[in-house]
Amino acid sequence: MFDKLMKDRYGGDQLTLVLLLASVILTLVGRLTKISVLGLLSYLPLGYAAYRMLSKDIEKRRLENYKFSILISPIYGKYKGIQNKFKERKTYKYFKCPACNSELKVPKGKGKIKITCPKCGDKFEGRT
Ligand SMILES: [Zn+2]
Repeated sequence: MFDKLMKDRYGGDQLTLVLLLASVILTLVGRLTKISVLGLLSYLPLGYAAYRMLSKDIEKRRLENYKFSILISPIYGKYKGIQNKFKERKTYKYFKCPACNSELKVPKGKGKIKITCPKCGDKFEGRT
């Protein structure tokens, strides 16, 4: 029955997932803050998600999701960067170049070393 309903339909994608998540968050925040309009607003992303999932205009939905992924990719990249830094915090130490403010990654446990900024060539000392 469900299979038949979903035949030729677009189905879910990342944008759908985010819309559903937004709906849940709006509902929760609405309940916690007792602002009932948020509860009503939560139906908007929910309705849009349902509309997209049941849509037969697959090309259009794909394009929407594509545009959406471009929109969030810098945010996602930043998140990945933070995640990486956290993973490498035991093996690397991060320095900020005093001249150009760019970030440098140096292996930990080398004691006091001279660091040369690869961007501007500035030299400074740091303890790793
Ligand atoms: Zn520099």
